Amino acid sequence: MRFDILTIFPKAFDSYLGESIIKRAITKKLIKIVIHDIRKFSTDKHHKTDDSPFGGGAGMLMTPQPLYDAIKHAKKLNKGPVIYFSPRGETFTQIKAEKLAKKYSKKGVILICGRYEGIDERIIDLLVDEEISIGEYVLTGGELPAMILLDSVSRLLKGVLGRSESHEEDSFSLALDRKKEYPHYTRPAVFKKLKVPEVLMGGNHKEIDKWRKNHLK
Ligand code: SAM
Repeated sequence: MRFDILTIFPKAFDSYLGESIIKRAITKKLIKIVIHDIRKFSTDKHHKTDDSPFGGGAGMLMTPQPLYDAIKHAKKLNKGPVIYFSPRGETFTQIKAEKLAKKYSKKGVILICGRYEGIDERIIDLLVDEEISIGEYVLTGGELPAMILLDSVSRLLKGVLGRSESHEEDSFSLALDRKKEYPHYTRPAVFKKLKVPEVLMGGNHKEIDKWRKNHLK
């Protein structure tokens, strides 16, 4: 699956994309992540991407021109939906991640990271298909939301998780009826006087499944 990410802080992604499962998925060509520096699309001689809002008020806004050109460029490379991260968008959930992974694994998605007070509304009117919020709080920019979306969607794609890792019974998934998963234990069987439930050590898979179902939250 292809992710085209539009940002004015391209370096923000370097360390995260260079580690662990996401790095492995990139190397195995299961996902392709292309970071576009919005600043490079600015026709302003200082590559400016922000200006003060009409009507006054605190803060700056991302101007439409660089974003418009950057999105148009990305749309030539990626036929998926244009998603703008915004606190006012639809709240991101595991079910939404499952839907994106299923529907756009071939086409990909274009992710726009806002900064300042956000972006000029006309970009949303003209080019944005969906607004997604990652929760009811406000961050300084859309880069962390973009990483959250790409991480949660990528791990659902075929081959991204290894055999010892699994998303089948993750919390909030459709498979778990959107409930939160059961408790997990590993060795030792007793830790600080706390014992692992007997049934989990018995090897009776029917009983183990029953115990796990009863312990979903
Ligand atoms: N003025 C905006 C408001 O009150 O809703 C907040 C803008 S925020 C400081 C700057 C950018 O960070 C936003 O344009 C968005 O891209 C991103 N952002 C911040 N919080 C977010 C959230 N909860 N979900 C998704 N994106 C968020």
